[in-house]
Parts: sequence; C-alpha cells; structure tokens
Amino acid sequence: MSSRELVVLGTASQAPTRRRNHNGYLLLWDDEGLLFDPGEGTQRQMLFAGVTASRITRICITHFHGDHCLGLPGVLQRMALDRVPHGVDVCYPAQHRDVFARLRHASLFHDVLELRERPVETAGPVVQAAEFALEAQPLSHSVAAFGYRLVEPDGRRMLPDRLAAFGITGPDIGRLQHEGRLVSGDRVVALEEVSEPRRGQRFAFIMDTRLCDGAFALADGADMLVCESTFADTEAALAQEYGHLTARQAGRVAAESGARLLVLTHFSQRYERGDEQLLADQAAEAFGGPVVLAHDLDRIPVPSRHPAAEDATEAGGRG
Ligand SMILES: [Zn+2]
Repeated sequence: MSSRELVVLGTASQAPTRRRNHNGYLLLWDDEGLLFDPGEGTQRQMLFAGVTASRITRICITHFHGDHCLGLPGVLQRMALDRVPHGVDVCYPAQHRDVFARLRHASLFHDVLELRERPVETAGPVVQAAEFALEAQPLSHSVAAFGYRLVEPDGRRMLPDRLAAFGITGPDIGRLQHEGRLVSGDRVVALEEVSEPRRGQRFAFIMDTRLCDGAFALADGADMLVCESTFADTEAALAQEYGHLTARQAGRVAAESGARLLVLTHFSQRYERGDEQLLADQAAEAFGGPVVLAHDLDRIPVPSRHPAAEDATEAGGRG
C-alpha cells in the first residue's frame, strides 16, 4: 500500500470526451495533496475518485488554457464550502496573474480560504516544504507555461543489523541520525557505519510543450514522470505548430532524463475510439521503460524505491 500515488482525475486535452474528463491530477504524497491543472469538472471527478477537497495542500497550474484551469473556481469554492482549515499554496505563471484573479473570483461565495499565491516568474524553486522542494521550469507552448517537479532530498536508510551489531537501540538511534555520530560503549559510531544512502524520490509534471530544455530538466531522474502526449507520430507537425508533444517525444524525454515510470496523458479527442494504445506503443519504443496510458480515475502508485533501482539510476550518470 502506497502513501504516494497519482490520482488521475481527467486525461483529455482541449475537449472532454465521453470517457475522458478534462485534465486534473491529484498527487498524494504522504500528508500532502498536490492538485495539478484542474480542468473543467475536476470537483466532480474528485468525488468519483474518493478524494476530498481537504486533501489539497498545494495547487499547481502549468498555464491558463481552459483544459488546465477551468475547474479551479469549482475546486476553490468546494474547499471554502468544506472549510478547509489549512493554507494552500497556488503556483501559476506570473504573466497571467489577471487570469488567476478572474478564476479566483469567478463567482460569489463565502470566501474563507487561506490561499498563498506563488506566481512563477522564472526557473527555480517555488515552494520549500519540510519534506520536499517544488521547482518550476519554463515550457515551450503558445502561452506562458511552466512545468513542475517535486524533489525529495536524499537521506539515509538505517540498517537494523548494523545497529544491532553496535548495540544501538531506542532513542540513541534518533540521536545518531540527528548528530551524525554517537558514543557507544568505548567507541564512536558514525552514521555512515550503520546506514546507507537513500535517494530522495522525484515526481515530474510536464504539460503543454514542445521539446525544450525545461522538459528535460524537469524529468531528470524522475521516479514518476507525468507527461502530455497529445498526438501520435502522424500528427508531429501539428504538435510542433501548437506547442505539444507526440507520445514518442514524451518517451524520448523519459529516456534521456533517466525517468523510471512514464505516465502518458492529455490526449487529443481523435484517439477516443480505442486507438490510444498506439500512443503508448510509440512512447515505449522511444523510452524502453514502463509506460502507463492514463485513464480517468486511475490510481497510479509512485514506484517504490528499491536499492537495485537506485544503483541503476545512479550508475546512469545523472548530472
Ligand atoms: Zn495549452
């Protein structure tokens, strides 16, 4: 059972279909809930998915095309209705503060929300939480757009057999973790002697964009990469013109960035009739790793960290 998983609320680009709602993604990460790009209908999709408005602790909007933000008024008003007691960060491209303000106040409601606006001007850190940093990178779309990634700092995993060998138990373990060394009997034990490196997990979220440096930077070493894949190979010219990725390009981003799991979403309505598997196939050809074709209301666990995978990733020469 994972306490880190992606709840897929919608997977359609531009126009929703019978089977796909507009975009919407809630990343459950321990006690945090990060809502990405709430398109139209997100409030109701959350109901179907069994997640409440009070689960939301941060909101990230990549850009202000409707399929990525028209659900924001409903979600905010639902949060107010439910009297969500905690403050919520809202990240969005600073260039379109005016659009955010309109969505924020799109209709009249009893506004008891404590929103902390984090307009994003440039690449870099946006939110520093206790357990992770949230960073943004510019994307290449037809309007100002930023992708996001969540980076958990590297830590150390305590090794029970080593602790036992040194006779370290109870509160001494916490003391050693905190201070890095501990006097045990007649010797000093260093943290490195009883633990091993544990790589922090990373989650990347890339929406509407052409191939660009920002996309690769976001995906770097991601355990889970959620990436738009609006089109198949045959529509590559359309993708370039309108600032989108093909599924194969999404696969390339995952491959060249050393991502572990690629989640494809944001599909054109032209793939409604079951030919969407084509997109997964084309991405898989470029990636070589596991590809998940997202469907509405899927719950996709963030891959658990295991030593073998960490070694492989580190050997892969992440920069
Ligand atoms: Zn767009």
